[in-house]
Amino acid sequence: EPTDIVEMLEDVEDRFSFQMKQKHIRTIIEVKPGVSTAMLDRDGIDQVLDNLISNALKYTPDGGTITMDASITEEGMLSLSVKDTGIGIPKKDLDRIFERFYRVDKARTRNLGGTGLGLSIAREIVRAHGGFITLQSELEKGTTVTFTLPLNNEGRAVM
Ligand code: ATP
Ligand code: MG
Repeated sequence: EPTDIVEMLEDVEDRFSFQMKQKHIRTIIEVKPGVSTAMLDRDGIDQVLDNLISNALKYTPDGGTITMDASITEEGMLSLSVKDTGIGIPKKDLDRIFERFYRVDKARTRNLGGTGLGLSIAREIVRAHGGFITLQSELEKGTTVTFTLPLNNEGRAVM
């Protein structure tokens, strides 16, 4: 059955609301015109969103903001993004960030835990659904990860 995109994003927000409150992080959901429902592999897409939100949460200091955005691209794909106001990623690491086990400068993330798999798994899932994932980041300003999913004329994800 079709997934309501707004509900899907609100559910992600709910799953992390306790941790968000603990860090005094505000969440915003932005839904652009034309976004409604889609036939999605919910388990897969939830896993992508959870990986991205858990990064945003982990790498954003207290008091920051995490924004989830849904829109439709000119090519008619569903585009979802997770944006944070966190520590950002140095330019020299951006090329390798989706590699398995790759983590930026262990010193800054030593006590944050993690194996360096989240982004590589997210990319694998998005690609398996015929989509693309990109990451933009500015050191000490924040990071935005955007992924797309193809939709057919009935707003169904093509798998
Ligand atoms: P895991 O996801 O397996 O728990 P991880 O978070 O370290 O571990 P990835 O999610 O693959 O691994 O991320 C790889 C690296 O990219 C992270 O170690 C971190 O340095 C950097 N990174 C990822 N997302 C962000 C973000 N939103 N802000 C800043 N750095 C990030
Ligand atoms: Mg991670």
